[in-house]
Amino acid sequence: MQNPLFYALPPHFRPDMPAPKKKPAAATKSTAKSAAGATTSATTTRAAKIDDKLIKLGLRSDIDKVLHLPLRYEDETEIKNISEAGFIFGRPVQVEGVVTSCEVAFRPRRQLVVTIADESGQLVMRFLNFYGSQVKQMAEGNRVRARGEVRHGFFGAEMVHPAYKMVIEGAPLPSALTPVYPAGEGLSQTLLRKTIADAMGRMAWRDTLSEQLRTSLELMPFEPAVRMLHNPPPDIDESALADRSHAAWVRMKFDELLAQQLSMKRAQIARREKGAAVLPKVGALSQAFIQQLPFSLTNAQQRVLTEIRADLKQSFPMQRLLQGDVGSGKTVVAAIAAAQAIDSGFQAVLMAPTEILADQHFRKIAGWMEPLGVNVAWLTGSLKKKEKLAAKARIESGAAQLVIGTHALIQEDVQFSRLGLVIVDEQHRFGVSQRLVLRNKGMDSNAPSSKQTIPHQLMMSATPIPRTLAMTYYADLEVSVIDELPPGRTPIVTRVIDQNRRDEVIERVHAAALEGRQVYWVCPLIEESEALQLQTATDTHLTLAAALPDLHVGLVHGRMKPAEKQEVMDAFTRGDIHVLVATTVIEVGVDVPNASLMVIEHAERFGLSQLHQLRGRVGRGVTASVCLLLYQGPLGQVAKQRLRIMRESTDGFEIARKDLEIRGPGEFLGARQSGQAMLRFADLETDQWLVDRARDVAQALLRDDPATVEAHLARWLGAREDFLKV
Ligand code: ADP
Ligand code: MG
Repeated sequence: MQNPLFYALPPHFRPDMPAPKKKPAAATKSTAKSAAGATTSATTTRAAKIDDKLIKLGLRSDIDKVLHLPLRYEDETEIKNISEAGFIFGRPVQVEGVVTSCEVAFRPRRQLVVTIADESGQLVMRFLNFYGSQVKQMAEGNRVRARGEVRHGFFGAEMVHPAYKMVIEGAPLPSALTPVYPAGEGLSQTLLRKTIADAMGRMAWRDTLSEQLRTSLELMPFEPAVRMLHNPPPDIDESALADRSHAAWVRMKFDELLAQQLSMKRAQIARREKGAAVLPKVGALSQAFIQQLPFSLTNAQQRVLTEIRADLKQSFPMQRLLQGDVGSGKTVVAAIAAAQAIDSGFQAVLMAPTEILADQHFRKIAGWMEPLGVNVAWLTGSLKKKEKLAAKARIESGAAQLVIGTHALIQEDVQFSRLGLVIVDEQHRFGVSQRLVLRNKGMDSNAPSSKQTIPHQLMMSATPIPRTLAMTYYADLEVSVIDELPPGRTPIVTRVIDQNRRDEVIERVHAAALEGRQVYWVCPLIEESEALQLQTATDTHLTLAAALPDLHVGLVHGRMKPAEKQEVMDAFTRGDIHVLVATTVIEVGVDVPNASLMVIEHAERFGLSQLHQLRGRVGRGVTASVCLLLYQGPLGQVAKQRLRIMRESTDGFEIARKDLEIRGPGEFLGARQSGQAMLRFADLETDQWLVDRARDVAQALLRDDPATVEAHLARWLGAREDFLKV
């Protein structure tokens, strides 16, 4: 299949000479030493280190390696005459010649200049970084095969830092394109090629799809498709290979999408087989609750509520993500769902990622619910021991019908009496395992597993995850979207202002406060140091207080004790504080409708969704709100782009889409959450036609052919399935 000279062996390998060092980084003294004194144990550690690096790249098993497909290819199947190569511009060519001279030049700078020649002409290779061993290698008369772009420079036709190998005359050319793989740090292409070729040699190639199915779908068989992608023949349609429309790619994408569909459907089936408390009753509490709200629900709220209510009536657990932009009114929908659980005789719990947020939920929801006779408990880490014990006792006895709190809720000693509904606010702030712990608190561990029930789950997020992405990352999740803001909101005007106009901004803050508006002043994010961030907030507080002596300037930051924080937030809510200097602790969910001006310093340091979250703290009342993004120039390309998007859009979904474009899915969802993206090859947007087919095939296989389902999932998911168990 492959010529060993080019494939299985390192590229510089020549039977009669040792391999030269490949990279400057590898040529340090210590490597030289360890290579010299290589013992078995050193070899083992090296192998282990390589394995570590491979694992970092997600390559653990043979199938992982076999499915590590090339990014692109290099064509080393052909040798051009040197004279001809001199007329090929803008793309790499391969030439072969004999070294006619090799010298270290010092002008225009120190470099190795090697001339090679074939019958047609000669060409110069220049190396700006080189080793003594390379000079030896390039002895006159030795034969070199070099690949690079030819340009016409100081020395005439030349290649700068070409890829090259020493060869013997008549050394055969590879018969396939040379794959270039996505590589991690410290993993050379040579090593990856060998690792993958070895894995292909060990692979059990059985096709997971029957011939009949393949034929009906016009799909290539698995093994030839994989082999073709790793080592395409030189006459392959390269553009189809590059844009992944080639039949071999289609087979990979189909297989991958089929695995995704199978695992999603299977998770769905498994969920439907589990029991859940049936919460059918929209009773007195639900009705009274909705009646006493000072507003009526928007159409969007009404619609998602209908979806949630229907889920709660089922005897299998709901698993629903409620998405809605900041300020779209998710909390009230969650509270109505909680009322239904309570009406049906069960407990509901709401967990929020920060104390401020949990507290705000508690006040708001307890303010609505307690007058209606609901027993609401509050549990956070900052409670005094005695209060905690009392809260836990109420939760365990079932006296508490609704429980609101922070991570403290997932402590081991918190037990519920009959938990029917779990609500997680800002769910992306929690890890999958944290959510599972809370959910499992609703499981009756004494019940036989067939009778075990788990609570319904409602997860809320203001970081809109595009639907396609949600599908990729969660095996089994229904999504509801509130796509409408409550009426009477005036859109936020955003301005981007140079930091050196800070004085003008302070004046503007002053004027706004005199008009009775309240102001957030958000201090810069300093990622390297929390202490520094704190310092900046304290300093800003002092300077602003000095610059605005007739106003009350408050300060809130993450290092304050919860009670202190609360005191400040209360004063701000009451209107006693005009200007609130804050770190990003106010990022999530804080709701003070009278605040209508926000200043964000060093906005260029924030990510898009964070800016959007922050900005969402204003624009909650009827007064027109303004957000001033102060930046410190000069701005990089990405920062410029971000600030422009913020100025132009207030639509969270739009912003999320842009954010996704800039950052890519892994970072977008946060490392904790995303695990490893399941789709590596297919794209849910552009490969929609394949998604549709995969969905139909998945349905049929799950019905008729469980063995194929197992085999296919084992091949394509392997260890990846774990993180799909949301
Ligand atoms: P988020 O979706 O960001 O969590 P909240 O639930 O905090 O939004 O709601 C934002 C504000 O809008 C709250 O003050 C809430 O009481 C109010 N609100 C919610 N629904 C409506 C509605 N239908 N009409 C008017 N105001 C509403
Ligand atoms: Mg909220």
